Amino acid sequence: MELANKHLLKTQNYIGGQWHDSPAKLPVCDPANSNMLAELADAGPADAEAAVGEAHAAFPAWKKRTAGERAAVLKRWHQLILDNTDDLARLLTLEQGKPLAEARGEILHGASFIEWYAEECRRAYGQTIPTHNRDMRLQTIRQPVGVVGCITPWNFPNAMITRKVAPALAAGCTLVVKPAAETPLSALALCQLAQEAGLPAGTLNMVVGSDAAGIGRVLTQDTRVAKFTFTGSTAVGKILMAQCATGVKKVSMELGGNAPFIVCDDGDLDTAVQACMATKFRNAGQTCVSTNRIYVHESVHDEFVARLRTAMTALKVGHGCEDGVTLGPLIHRRATERVAQLVEDTVAAGATIEVGGDFLSTGVNYYAPTLITGVTDDMRIAREEIFGPVAPVQKFACEEDVIRRTNDTPYGLAAYVMSENIRRANRLVEALDYGMVACNAGVFSTAAAPFGGNKESGIGREGGVEGMTEFYETKYCCYGA
Ligand code: NAD
Repeated sequence: MELANKHLLKTQNYIGGQWHDSPAKLPVCDPANSNMLAELADAGPADAEAAVGEAHAAFPAWKKRTAGERAAVLKRWHQLILDNTDDLARLLTLEQGKPLAEARGEILHGASFIEWYAEECRRAYGQTIPTHNRDMRLQTIRQPVGVVGCITPWNFPNAMITRKVAPALAAGCTLVVKPAAETPLSALALCQLAQEAGLPAGTLNMVVGSDAAGIGRVLTQDTRVAKFTFTGSTAVGKILMAQCATGVKKVSMELGGNAPFIVCDDGDLDTAVQACMATKFRNAGQTCVSTNRIYVHESVHDEFVARLRTAMTALKVGHGCEDGVTLGPLIHRRATERVAQLVEDTVAAGATIEVGGDFLSTGVNYYAPTLITGVTDDMRIAREEIFGPVAPVQKFACEEDVIRRTNDTPYGLAAYVMSENIRRANRLVEALDYGMVACNAGVFSTAAAPFGGNKESGIGREGGVEGMTEFYETKYCCYGA
């Protein structure tokens, strides 16, 4: 693998500031062509326990550092990531598949959390509370929660880690991270740069392993872990929450979605198509906030579909490292077959394929950008997370109808509203039971704003001031006079 900085290719686990090998091996492959990129040390539950021990031992000293001292390390880490953006983006594209321009975007987005929380940790203010008794003084202080266990997915192998690790470290916590086995190279490269930035040994630990359930049990049940934070599917999130319940561990969950994209009759159709393309086809539709159900007012339905079709046919499919490619492969064959089955079921239920609808010969994991009309709310494709480049369109007649239909799901992560009428936009934004609503925009995530879901899409928020409070305990201090 060609990298300008060869130190970034790491194949061992990072525990207590050391790189640890393991007799068992885990292959990491390029999803575009199945070529093996590297063989990694396959960690198991015992490695996870050792990592928790190191994080636990490192916690008292890291906690005692001043906010300014922690910020200085985080800023060095942020700068090193920027200095190595090209290599980090290349690693990401090779193991995950997204086009290089998107991978670069993810590296910069991921780094922005580190910069933002390096600044935010200086503002971890407590309060002085007006007392109820003149002989008492009341205060609150914020203290880091302790050792944090993290499990992250493969769809954003860099940013889903920094979005947790940066606020946790800034708050004074130490961590053990288990990245997805499909995309560990991006994750381990971050550890290498953290080490170079001077992050103390044991503060950040990483274990990569094929036994996700075994490692997960350690991170959710070891009594030395104070908080567990997960990004991934709702199904796995529920298992991990149940495991955390036995020790009443604090949890944050960033889970699956079923995002509606509403195009009102007063929506600007160029804006709507542009936003829809961005949310639907970024990362080949494999994002938690990816548009999953497109509701178009019946009066503009045909025009919107025609324009979306034109935009979709301009997508360039190929290996993410090739110039100009805008749509890469899906993560693996299982995911590709699942998407194909979902499309088959949708057609069998009576919908119509306008564009695509099949595997592509580009490689084993490629599925054609697919546009489907005549979809109804009872179809599987409208109820399950698609996680692929498939755009299913439905019609709606009035505002009340679309609000009722879009809210009729156990998920509540992201929703999109396309309307030029500010009163209508306000009504819809307020009525949608989602943690995030983007109006006339398709890409909205930023380090400065809280990201997260309602209902079965999650608990807690990442990003912004809210993302930092997840890693603090607020202590009430009462002083008698
Ligand atoms: P997944 O739940 O299958 O896996 C996520 C992580 O959990 C991986 O590291 C995996 O190895 C691990 N894991 C799987 N089973 C486990 C178990 N029994 N015990 C412990 N760990 C286990 O999800 P995925 O396919 O990697 O990611 C896609 C999902 O993530 C989608 O549902 C997507 O919506 C969601 N997601 C949510 C957000 C968000 O911010 N809300 C962001 C990105 C992805």
